[in-house]
Amino acid sequence: MSQTKLSEFDIIQRYFKRPVADVDLGIGDDAAVVSPTPDMQLVVSADTLVSGRHFFENADPYKLGYKSLAVNLSDMAAMGAKPRWVMLSLTLPENLNETHPVWLSQFASGFLDLARTYQVALIGGDTTGGALNICVQIMGEVREKRYLRRDGAKPGDDIWVSGYLGDAALALKHTLGIIRLSQSEMNHCMPALHTPKARVELGQHLVDLAHSAIDISDGLLADLGHILTCSTCAAEIKLDAVPCSRVMKQHMSSSLALECLLTGGDDYELCFTAPKNNNSVIEQISQVLRVPLSVIGEIKQGTGLSVIDAQGKEVIMQKKGYDHFAT
Ligand SMILES: [Mg+2]
Repeated sequence: MSQTKLSEFDIIQRYFKRPVADVDLGIGDDAAVVSPTPDMQLVVSADTLVSGRHFFENADPYKLGYKSLAVNLSDMAAMGAKPRWVMLSLTLPENLNETHPVWLSQFASGFLDLARTYQVALIGGDTTGGALNICVQIMGEVREKRYLRRDGAKPGDDIWVSGYLGDAALALKHTLGIIRLSQSEMNHCMPALHTPKARVELGQHLVDLAHSAIDISDGLLADLGHILTCSTCAAEIKLDAVPCSRVMKQHMSSSLALECLLTGGDDYELCFTAPKNNNSVIEQISQVLRVPLSVIGEIKQGTGLSVIDAQGKEVIMQKKGYDHFAT
């Protein structure tokens, strides 16, 4: 063991312990103690990021810290919850040992900067040795029974998505050498991959308006597919209505870009369904929050998910990403 190796206590004290509000007992004891707001329900979720699977081992530690929290905030957004508390368990490899102080300091800054933005308190966690692995558990609150879920979509609902889809997948395909983006296109797409924006405020605004919601982590078709399976519904979406950035538009003639748009992961936008008579309120929310919201299709009776192009023909994807697609 190298002499520079930090103890778990050192790691916590130096990098992760911050004074936080709304916590009765925070980092440093055997467990944390928090007081949920009266009449609110707790919403709890966890996400694990594994080196080589969810990120490259040489990933920028600041951005990795940021993204580790962002993907969990996105799950709170999809539930319509206000995020409150978070736990972080880090597995650090020995070969990071010599660079631990720098790596940890940057990772903690990325994580805690985003936590501060959303007033989320880091209340505990764990550190151990092994392959680089980041496990985050997050807790949020909703008013009693007022949360979003996957199983409420109804035939006739409009299907909405926030933001623009596919830029993170374009950035990943560029990084892997599968497609080629210009420098300015990369500058546009890389933040979508490395520092995604969780739609936390949007989710909370949708609680009384949407019938169902999910965050797009595995790609539009896969995640909308989860809503359809849980809600026992079908859907038809219009390819032209799927919101895409200027970079995506430039590359849309390629089937790879189309795959990024419809089946690419890591978007962390929200996909939700809502009755048509809520459209004007949802459009007002879009303006107030300055989050683009687009209707991309409609929930139907039956099963299956079809994508229709501008000529009215069904788009058949090579990579389905969703079991019921093209059924
Ligand atoms: Mg999710």
